[in-house]
Order: sequence, then C-alpha cells, then structure tokens
Amino acid sequence: MGKTIGIDLGTTNTCVAALLNGKPFVIPSSTGTRLIPSYFAVTNDEKTLIGVRAKRQSITNPQNTIFAAKRLIGRKFDSKEVQITKGKVPYQIVEGPHGDARVVCGGKTMSIPEISAFILLEAKNVAQEFLEDDIDGACITVPAYFNETQRQATIDAAEIAGLKVLRIINEPTASALAYAQKRGKKNELIAVYDFGGGTFDISILEFGEGVYEVLSTAGNTYLGGEDIDNRLIRYILDDFKKAHDVDLMQDVMAMQRLKEAAERAKIELSSQTEATISLPFLTETSHGSIHYNTVIMRNKLEELMEDLVRQTIEICASTLEGAGLKKDDIHEVILVGGQTRAPLVIRKTAEFFGKQPNRSINPDEVVAEGASIHAYNIVSPLPSNILVDITALSLGIQTKGGMFAEVIPRNTAVPVTKTRRFTTTYDNQDAVRIAVYQGNEKIAQDNEMLGEFVLSGIRLAKKGDPNIEVSFDMNSEGILRVTAKDADMGTEQTVTLEAASGLSNDEITLMKKKMMSLELELKEQ
Ligand code: AMP
Repeated sequence: MGKTIGIDLGTTNTCVAALLNGKPFVIPSSTGTRLIPSYFAVTNDEKTLIGVRAKRQSITNPQNTIFAAKRLIGRKFDSKEVQITKGKVPYQIVEGPHGDARVVCGGKTMSIPEISAFILLEAKNVAQEFLEDDIDGACITVPAYFNETQRQATIDAAEIAGLKVLRIINEPTASALAYAQKRGKKNELIAVYDFGGGTFDISILEFGEGVYEVLSTAGNTYLGGEDIDNRLIRYILDDFKKAHDVDLMQDVMAMQRLKEAAERAKIELSSQTEATISLPFLTETSHGSIHYNTVIMRNKLEELMEDLVRQTIEICASTLEGAGLKKDDIHEVILVGGQTRAPLVIRKTAEFFGKQPNRSINPDEVVAEGASIHAYNIVSPLPSNILVDITALSLGIQTKGGMFAEVIPRNTAVPVTKTRRFTTTYDNQDAVRIAVYQGNEKIAQDNEMLGEFVLSGIRLAKKGDPNIEVSFDMNSEGILRVTAKDADMGTEQTVTLEAASGLSNDEITLMKKKMMSLELELKEQ
C-alpha cells in the first residue's frame, strides 16, 4: 500500500504533509523549502515551470506567470470576483467555452483546474520523492466558503494531476484536527481564525471524546493578505505620483517589482517597526530613470489595513452569534494563515475574544498537517476519530418571485436529509420546475445554480392545494440528491447534482494525458 497525503492548496503557497509514526509531518522539497509557491509559468523558450522556479522569474515574465489561480477556480468569467482579479493581475484572463474563467499563458488558453493541477502535481512529486513511495490518495483542503462548483473544480484539478482525492475538507476543520492531535483529548470549544493570502475564514468547533464537530463557519473568499499588499501598493503609487507625476500603473514590470517589495515590507513590519523599500531604476521617463526609496512605518501599514482586519472581526462576531455563543464560551483561539503573523491581527483577535490567541502551531503548515491526519483516518479509520463537518452555504430552491427557499440551511452538519413542503402558484398547475441553488443570498439568482429539473404529473387542483415535498439528501462527500414528490399522487422525480466545474469529462481526460507527458519533461529539467 502506498501513502496518503494532505495538501493545503493555497492562494499563495501550497503545503504537503503526511502522517509519519502517528504524527503529521510537513514534507520539504529537495531544496529544503516547506512551502511550494502556487505559481505556474511558461517561459519564452516554452519551458513549463512550477512553484519556486515559476515565482522566481515572475518579475521578468509577468504575462506568462500565473499566480492566485485559487481566486479564479470554479468561477464564471463574468463573476464579480473574476472581474476584480482581472484588474489586478498582469496575466490575461479570458472566457472559456463553458463561461468559465481561463487564463492565457505561453500563448495558450488554459483552464484554472489545469493550472492548479500543475501545483498539485508538484506537491505529489515532492511527497513521492521524499517518502520514496507511491501516493495512493490525498485530502485536499479548500476554504470553508467554497461552493460546490469550486470544490468540484479542485477535484478536477487533482484528477488531471493523477491524484486520487480521498476527501475535500474545509481548511479550518483541518487546522482544528491538527491542533486537537497536539492537544490530546479534551472537551473544548475552539475558534479557528484563518487569514491567508486570498481568503478569510472563521470556524467554531467543538471537541469531545474524539468527535470533532464544526458548529459554525463563515468567511470572505475575497479578503486576504493580498488586499493588504494592495493597500500598500496604492499608497506607494500615490506617493510616487505626487513626487514624480508619473502613473506607475502603466508600467507592468514596475508594478511587479512594487508588488514584491510591498509584500516584503509588510512581512518585515510584522517583526520590525519600520521597513525600507528600495527600488532603483523603477521606471523610465523621457527625462531618464526614476529610483524609488522610502521607509514605511508599522503604524502607517496598520492604518492602511485596519478596516480590513475590522471586517474579519465583524465576521467573527456574526459567526459567534450565528452559533448562539458568547466570546467567553471559546476556550482557545487558533491563528492560521501567514497574515495572522501581523501584530495588528494578533492584537485585534486578542481584544475581541478577550484572550491571547494560541500561537503554538505553525500558521503556514497546520492546514496541511490536519489534512494529512484526515487522509490517514479515511484509509485506516480509527473508531475514536469522527469528523462532523457542515455545509457553509445554504442549499435550496427558487420559489415565487425568484426568492431562495432554504431546504438545508447553512451550518448544518452533513450527511443530512431535509424535506420541505411547497405548493403550486396557479390553478390546475400540473408541473413545477425545481431549480436548485447554493448560497447565502435571499434572491435565488444571486446564488450558485447547481441544476434544475421538472416534476410533472401533479394532481390538478386549486393553487396552493397540492403538497409537493422537496427532499435534499447530502452525503459526507458533498454530493446532493434532490427528490421532488407530489405527496398526494406519489409521483416522484430524483436527480443527483454534482456541480459542473467548467470542464467536461473529455477535457479532463485530455488534460490528464497532456499532463502525464509533460510530467516526464518536468522531471528532466
Ligand atoms: P497563506 O495563504 O496562509 O500562505 O498566507 C499568505 C499570506 O500571508 C500572504 O499575503 C503573505 O504576505 C502573508 N504573510 C506571510 N508571512 C507574513 C508575516 N510574517 N507577516 C504578515 N503577513 C505575512
């Protein structure tokens, strides 16, 4: 039997871990690095680069270096998020044949699962090389707030990379598993505050005698360390414009250098009170080169990022409220994600929860560690370890006036079966359209549509008279079965809905083949 691994497929970095001698172990690459930058690139001479090698050349090859693909995975091209990302990255984002967002790299249009597959392939290879064994399967983590389409696109990415997905689990759940393993059996309520490169999540979990139950989870898939970088970049752009009357936004290369320098300064400001940014020959004008030097104080950075941190705290407050809990009920606050190293984040979380957060775990590695524990538990289940996860987004159907009627409310433990009664809206209506949506918005169309079907043969009667039972059955893999039944006639219609990720099966097979031939080429580099 081969090994199982846990992969934290991050917006900025990816981390891979395995359970060795009963303990999670972060697997280093052959160069000793423990994080794989989530970067993919094609060079001018058509070489494919992944991870650190792709990141290293991003300044000189910005248009063909894809990063932050996690922001685009499973999203429609015309979605708000994709349109925002489009304005922020130097590579081109285009519409795919299924309305999905795709990127152009090395002159070719590539799907997002394909890009993520390269990162997963690198993670798999790092693990295989270190463990000197085949990888049988992986648990891959996603933000709690990912909808079914984003989860399915992540599964597609793994399939393209030739990696068997044992389970997709939520990042905060994985962190809690790793924390619990270190801590030992204890009954307590913990809050996992996860502030990474691109996303923010907060989850409340309850531990007791080997049962881990997620009580509540919420977040924002568009709030992360990158937004803080962008605040600093904006500040520097304004400063530069004031000093030189030049708009740096037009200079792609300068923007790339600025982006790197801003992130570096931000990270430095977590341990120091001031950081120097020095960018010689930043841009060329008709009067010659302009050099840029400045010192950023921690106070300034904190002023620029304060409202973003405040947003995370507001989400914490509403999550606690949603779970019917008070701050005092929380025994431990765990900080996860690189951005939680910022002193302002530590201060604000301590202030809000009224206790110092637990910083004994490594915020960059804990998610992968937890995923490796879960992967191991799936293949060799320990009866004492049960994970009860929840749906972070509500599931329901569209009703009269385009409203969204919840059948499975958010934060419900899965697996679950729930039934709700509906009726007809006009006299002698003999069929109803069941349009299934997922999301937390009141208007159905503001949520993600998972599919639709028609229940016909309804008993002819006055409007409001027939009893139509709609049952949602979600298993622990997140696969949803929807049944609609005329309770009086017994007519029934069932569909199994699996979110479409934006790729057809044929496309996935083709990409998988391509990946296998490229793998050889990558190994030889
Ligand atoms: P993650 O998604 O967990 O890998 O987190 C990556 C984010 O954390 C990026 O936005 C990084 O800039 C940020 N980050 C990493 N280290 C630090 C640090 N020491 N202080 C502040 N932010 C950091």
